[in-house]
Amino acid sequence: MDLQPGPIRGTRLRTGEVPRSPVLHRAAWVMTMEEPPLCDGAVLTQSGRIVAVGAFRALRSRCPAQTTVRDHPDCALLPALVNAHTHLELTGLEGQIALPQPGFARWLEELMPLRRALSAQSQKTALEDGERRLFQEATALCADITNGATLACRDSFSGTERTPILEVIGFDRPDLESALGLEVRASLDAALGAGTCGGLGAHACYSTSPPVIREIKEAARTHGLLFSIHVAEHEDEIEFLQTGTGACRDLLEKLGKWIPGWEPPGSTPIQYLDDLGVLDERTLLVHCVHLTRQDWQIVASRGCSVCFCPRSNRNLNVGRAEIARAAERNIPWALGTDSLASNRDLSLFAEACAAMESNPQVSPDEFLRAVTRGGARALHVQQDYGSIRPGKRDALIAVSLPASLGKAPLSETILYRGNEGEWTWVHHPRPD
Ligand SMILES: [Zn+2]
Repeated sequence: MDLQPGPIRGTRLRTGEVPRSPVLHRAAWVMTMEEPPLCDGAVLTQSGRIVAVGAFRALRSRCPAQTTVRDHPDCALLPALVNAHTHLELTGLEGQIALPQPGFARWLEELMPLRRALSAQSQKTALEDGERRLFQEATALCADITNGATLACRDSFSGTERTPILEVIGFDRPDLESALGLEVRASLDAALGAGTCGGLGAHACYSTSPPVIREIKEAARTHGLLFSIHVAEHEDEIEFLQTGTGACRDLLEKLGKWIPGWEPPGSTPIQYLDDLGVLDERTLLVHCVHLTRQDWQIVASRGCSVCFCPRSNRNLNVGRAEIARAAERNIPWALGTDSLASNRDLSLFAEACAAMESNPQVSPDEFLRAVTRGGARALHVQQDYGSIRPGKRDALIAVSLPASLGKAPLSETILYRGNEGEWTWVHHPRPD
């Protein structure tokens, strides 16, 4: 990476944005997430963008005369976090489902009536609340699953940016049009026209029919969008695809969505999705708790990204994802909090700390990368987020370090301090 200052005139401005004076942020450590940590480093920003990064002394001497220097002593500067999977429409369900739950099916039984009772307006209110919470949790950007009610919502709070992903569901639906319905179809068309739809998705293999999964992925390909799906989250899903029986079948029958004569593919969820032709480098696989060695090979060979949600998995008692399997195959992976219906907060620092403790074979460096660069890569927003590099947005945070760093890796200390609330926004992620 070029650590030299780029030309100030190279800074891209948003439409209507007034150019501002450059600011040089100096810190004990700068975590670019692309290069080793910079001791006594600095980041030059202007008008919402990073202009340059490097050693403080070298950078200071090359800054324009009007540059303001801001010191962040005893801090590590790092890119603000990227949450790769959440459902902000469900923020209002916080505390309404006791956690932990005994299993996925029981949790779903509790969730469904609460979900059905949410009005469109309450989901919009929940979205705003969720965005504020993410901002308070050092998050610059989130991938937000919506089932339609908030797809058209513009970010109302100029804090955390949101990539809305429209998720379809419908095991009994023969095609995408019938799964969407007229109202959601109209919202989708409007969002596609306005360029505000961040991605498309199917809920899961057991809740969405094969033609709908295929068609929604095809639509994502047509529009160059991300495709997301919950996959291999729990053993009921594995059983259903193998034998067509179990809790998923029971649920579909209870809801009147079961298709008599439906033949289970007799394969794993990953193999099933591969057979449907929906796995590629713009596919984001969420959860991946129950994957075989062969499944991991498929994920790696197709270039998919994976988002792990370890605390949600623990709260629903569905098992523990083997993060090391993704790490050792260089599969791009990120972390997500999932929603407040299956998690107690939307903190990625907390998610990373919990994951780090239960996956000691994966290094703290990789967890810090997962909540920054990994998230940006999974969502294909590396041009703006995930690392400190000239041209990217200046969505930066400063994590306060203890007086003595001790023997723990710097990245581990940063994650724990972040989880203890020892951080601040260096710069608001959006121009005000
Ligand atoms: Zn989810």
